[in-house]
Amino acid sequence: MISHECQQHSLVRPGQGHRICGKQSRSSSSAKLADRFRVVREGALWAHQPTDTSTQLAHLEQAFQTAYPDNESEELLWKVSGIDERIHTEKGSLTFLFANAIRYLELDLAFRLSDLPSRTLLILFSDHGFVENKAFTRTDKYEAPRYMHGKDSPFEVIIPWAWVMRL
Ligand SMILES: [Zn+2]
Repeated sequence: MISHECQQHSLVRPGQGHRICGKQSRSSSSAKLADRFRVVREGALWAHQPTDTSTQLAHLEQAFQTAYPDNESEELLWKVSGIDERIHTEKGSLTFLFANAIRYLELDLAFRLSDLPSRTLLILFSDHGFVENKAFTRTDKYEAPRYMHGKDSPFEVIIPWAWVMRL
């Protein structure tokens, strides 16, 4: 997910507001996207249990309602679900998964973020991680997922965030 503090909108003042724009992580940024943004700060978050999107969204919407009671969460939260969709459908190696995620971000997210004015601040973060299904075999690839999430392993719980500025 992505959150941004947008200097062009009066509803969000720099240093106080957040707009969440999508699902993304720093590791999946491509070179082209990186050329248009500068990382200001970065760190890690803990996902709530279970590590699924509906659980994280419930907590986020509650927090936004408290912090910004006059705004709809859709104005503040920009959810990009393309990476999660690829986690649930990819049957190939991590290399394929990451390549598909980067391609998706270049085609979808980078296009949308390019419209943001210079000096716009954003917070990009994942809502949960994922792990490889150790029981996955190629012979049952149509029945079993190769990647999954929802439990409490470190790779599902510890998630990245990055505060970035549009150059
Ligand atoms: Zn999912």
